Amino acid sequence: MFNKLNIDLQIRNILEKSMDEEISRDEAEKLMEVRGKELQALILTADMLRENLVGDQVTYIKNWNVNFTDICSGTCGFCAFKKSPDEEGAYFLEMNEIARRTKDAADEGAIEVCIQGGLHPDIDAYFYEDILLNVKKEVPDIHIHAFSPMEIFYGASKAELSVEETLKMLKKAGLGSMPGTAAEILNDDVRSIICPGKLSTAQWIDVIETAHKTGVPTTCTMMYGHVENISHRVEHLEILRNIQKKTGGFTEFVPLTFMHKNAPIFKQGISSAGTTGAEDLKLYAVSRLIFRDLIKNVQVSWVKLGFKFAQICLMAGTNDLGGTLGEENISRSAGAVHGVYTPPSELERTIRDIGRIPAERNTLYTEINEI
Ligand code: SF4
Repeated sequence: MFNKLNIDLQIRNILEKSMDEEISRDEAEKLMEVRGKELQALILTADMLRENLVGDQVTYIKNWNVNFTDICSGTCGFCAFKKSPDEEGAYFLEMNEIARRTKDAADEGAIEVCIQGGLHPDIDAYFYEDILLNVKKEVPDIHIHAFSPMEIFYGASKAELSVEETLKMLKKAGLGSMPGTAAEILNDDVRSIICPGKLSTAQWIDVIETAHKTGVPTTCTMMYGHVENISHRVEHLEILRNIQKKTGGFTEFVPLTFMHKNAPIFKQGISSAGTTGAEDLKLYAVSRLIFRDLIKNVQVSWVKLGFKFAQICLMAGTNDLGGTLGEENISRSAGAVHGVYTPPSELERTIRDIGRIPAERNTLYTEINEI
């Protein structure tokens, strides 16, 4: 494939192999190091593989975020969102306000509401159940994508329920799927630096596998570009690949580049100043090569990257542009300049301009309509 290009033979062999079969952890690590022509060859390979396996559509969803509180007892060193109860800007939405915002979103055309919040000292799994029941009462048809594995773990232990009991209860109350956030980097050495109070790698895997077993699909994510190294990134991807082989419950993979600007760990000199564009491209491309069509959908977060760079990332193996996002507080608190509602027409323009086909999807990718 790259015979006429003067690129490293070992890299060329891995890229050629990747068109037909999955790559190993060692091979993925080698690809994460490439530069120059090898990097261009990697991007092209990931793009061709994407075309072969999932076609030319770039999907997006009309969705809305409701972050019901920013009060959090967590101690994540990368978080610029959380507040203590008496801090300026701290808020905690009433139940009827959460339902009202969801109704407004549905009236604006949203088919999914993503509900997440801080680990407020007064909430537990029954509070999450109340949210679901109230929202479903007000807007029965909306898909509720809610509560990270950390929130489930926290809510379960506060309510003295098991994770499984909690998930069964929430599913019955209307939980459609869960964001696979709180994954950060699935390595306990890294977690002990960036989020020491958060659930461990094993606990994250347990919540996710229990969700899948209970019939609650999830996304999966990775927040990279802070203190971890390439080997940690690949280890993370391999953990996700192994879970998917076991459960098949992931709907999509969402890489989240670290927003350093307002992050405490950056201000304290602990983390790097985020990734470079080349690192982002390598992460997207290697993800496609690792997941192939096992996790078919790899999402580009325009909120974090902006539309111009998102276009380039869509040419590195990815096939989803996320959502229209009615309200996005978390990335903006962290310093992202994007993240306000964007009309579908703008997403479509971004997609068509790179020769791809815009398509609107539902949360689980079971309905996809070309525009
Ligand atoms: S990332 Fe989530 S759990 Fe951690 S401090 Fe921020 S709001 Fe709390």
